[in-house]
Amino acid sequence: MKEIILIKYGEIILKGGNRPRFEKILIQNIANSIRNIAQTRITIAQATIYIEVEDEDKLDIVCERLTMVFGIVTIVRARVCEKTVEAIEAAALEYCGGDLKPGVKFKVEAKRSDKKFPLNSVQLGIEVGGFLDEAIPGLVVDVHNPEVTVQVEVRDREAFVYCRENRIKGQGGMPIGTGGKATLLLSGGIDSPVAGHMIAKRGIEIDAVNFFSFPYTSERAKEKVIELASILARYTSKVNLYIVPFTDIQLAIRDNCPEEHMTLIMRRFMMKIAERLAIRNKSQALITGESAGQVASQTLAALNVTNAVVQMPVLRPLIGMDKTEIIERSQEIDTFETSILPYEDCCTVFTPKHPTTQPKLSMIEKSESHLDADRLIDEAIDGIECIEIYPKL
Ligand code: ATP
Ligand code: MG
Repeated sequence: MKEIILIKYGEIILKGGNRPRFEKILIQNIANSIRNIAQTRITIAQATIYIEVEDEDKLDIVCERLTMVFGIVTIVRARVCEKTVEAIEAAALEYCGGDLKPGVKFKVEAKRSDKKFPLNSVQLGIEVGGFLDEAIPGLVVDVHNPEVTVQVEVRDREAFVYCRENRIKGQGGMPIGTGGKATLLLSGGIDSPVAGHMIAKRGIEIDAVNFFSFPYTSERAKEKVIELASILARYTSKVNLYIVPFTDIQLAIRDNCPEEHMTLIMRRFMMKIAERLAIRNKSQALITGESAGQVASQTLAALNVTNAVVQMPVLRPLIGMDKTEIIERSQEIDTFETSILPYEDCCTVFTPKHPTTQPKLSMIEKSESHLDADRLIDEAIDGIECIEIYPKL
């Protein structure tokens, strides 16, 4: 008998007239994520996506990939059977029997979208429940607190049976490609990959930009950023990574500006360059991993100074999160182990001992007025290296 994967998706259902477009993009993203694993047939009906996998040995790995596709709420493997009560009962016993041990509290929940099926949902649930209760001695029917719920779905052509407890949680969110594009300032740290993931989750495609200070930061630091981008690409299918040479700007700042303003002036250059790049690449927002009060350059006063150089919205999804919460997220999305590798970041090399925490915009503008900002920015942009990053699986 055949096994199939059923996918339930969430918010898309609320999209009214746009729903078919969102569904089409989700199906395309699903197909892309599993294309190189197995031959599959993907269909959609009544707010469920069905994936038939030709080589059923590949079901596990297909499910694993699906856990990284935004827009999916749950994934479950199910037994396909004929639409008769007998076939459904036999399938339930065979497919869920392993979980239905003597003493286990269980219930059967049935749904039917085919209203011509001879039993209604309640009758079918009672019928299949009674059958299992008799077939497996010692089971306990408990409709309020079941340990195992046998789910039966009677659809247009076939019926499906599975244990609800075997459902796997998906990423949720919206399919990539439904929400435009944003440019992530991706450092080698813990925060920015998490910020990128959170925005991508809303269906937004991600370009990444990294400011790189060769030779003050090593080739291995660059490898680390590439690795982080390739983990992010698991969720977005591809990330364009722009590596911006930043050393000349940092040296100019170090040599010409007050030490306590160095970090903020550097951050303003990063934002300006990122915005230029974003406009060029048709991104509609910038993303940073800033969190209120985390470091001197992330006080509200400092954020105002940084923000003042750009017009584009700056998305800061971590703004209200504690470091421990951010670390948990980074572990969930699998960037943590890479983020904590000990290679220096461009900022750690040029960090002042006493950075200002309550900067005034006018003072920072005065401090940076000695720099030939336009020339420095043009030169940095001319030196950009673009790397297309594909998922690290
Ligand atoms: P992270 O853990 O992401 O490195 P952080 O706590 O170290 O963040 P900062 O170094 O102040 O914070 O940087 C704040 C944000 O600025 C980062 O989250 C990132 O979005 C951006 N940023 C910092 N350094 C770089 C860099 N070298 N290249 C690209 N973006 C950067
Ligand atoms: Mg950093």
